[in-house]
Amino acid sequence: MNSIDRLTELFMRFPGIGPKQARRFVYFLLREHSHYKEQLIKALEELKFTGKQCELCFRFFGDKYAQAEDITMCDICRSDARDTTILMIVEKELDMDAIEKTGSYNGLYFILGGLVPPLTEKPSELIRIRELTSRIHASIKDSELKEIIFALPVTDFGDVTTEYIEKTIKQIVGIENITLTKLARGLSSGLELEYVDKNTFDSALLRRN
Ligand SMILES: [Zn+2]
Repeated sequence: MNSIDRLTELFMRFPGIGPKQARRFVYFLLREHSHYKEQLIKALEELKFTGKQCELCFRFFGDKYAQAEDITMCDICRSDARDTTILMIVEKELDMDAIEKTGSYNGLYFILGGLVPPLTEKPSELIRIRELTSRIHASIKDSELKEIIFALPVTDFGDVTTEYIEKTIKQIVGIENITLTKLARGLSSGLELEYVDKNTFDSALLRRN
């Protein structure tokens, strides 16, 4: 296989990229100056060594401190400036990035890595429920956690996931002293959190219930 076909195949593994678009990327690279290609290769090389997944929130991170082997948490989870009494549950990294961009939330996060569809037999295989319960358990032991905010999509999948998590954490960990809230439904139905703007998010956070 020649390098054009090889690279096309690799680009086709990106989310949402078909053969035509993948081929367009390859032609773009062929036309680009070598300086750009060197930057790209360097960034990929760095990602290979520094891309790590945070052991607390499960976000991928690759900041300049991450190279040290003993760094197992992302900059948000490591920060002293964050409010450790609030934990926000999101579906995916892009949602967390969008919320961080608003600058309106200063607590911690947990990324579920998926959602539970209605009538699923083994929901525990679709989201990080075991990791979430042990995280909550540990935060309660440190008597830090006061509130859990569900920031999941306003869809059937989002609702089923919220119900499943609520039921599971009530069974597994005593959460009597913790408030469970949801972002207000001002986020119009079907709107994806990853595209949320600051005003909409601020109002949904303020009116959480
Ligand atoms: Zn983290």
